[in-house]
Amino acid sequence: MSKPITGSCCCGQISYTAKSVAPLWYCHCQQCRKMTGHYMAAARVNLNDIEINGEAKWFYVSDDSRHGFCPDCGSKIFWRNDKNDFLSITGGSINDTSSLRVSGHVFVGEKGDYYEIPGDEKRYICWESSIQQS
Ligand SMILES: [Zn+2]
Ligand SMILES: [Zn+2]
Repeated sequence: MSKPITGSCCCGQISYTAKSVAPLWYCHCQQCRKMTGHYMAAARVNLNDIEINGEAKWFYVSDDSRHGFCPDCGSKIFWRNDKNDFLSITGGSINDTSSLRVSGHVFVGEKGDYYEIPGDEKRYICWESSIQQS
């Protein structure tokens, strides 16, 4: 468990305070690459542990999975699946990243051909395999 963190979009219209944040995941699936412009760096926060100020715009990328962004500046801030009791906040939206840790990379088989996966954190083919192995 990390210490409370704060974050926001570029323009500051959307901001949040999270009591506790899980280690960061990098997701290389095509959906995340389209959403973010490269690949996703995001950390889970229980819905009970986050206070959000401002109204994010939500876009459903599938039946129950959506990402939240600032309607003005377009910063990608949130991702969530309606079936889960957590949402994910993007690494880039976090103000002070000094307490963040990294879990690993998921959907590595869907990564873009134009880059290599950096670092020596764990790599997983999908979420299911990451749950079994970690
Ligand atoms: Zn904004
Ligand atoms: Zn993804």
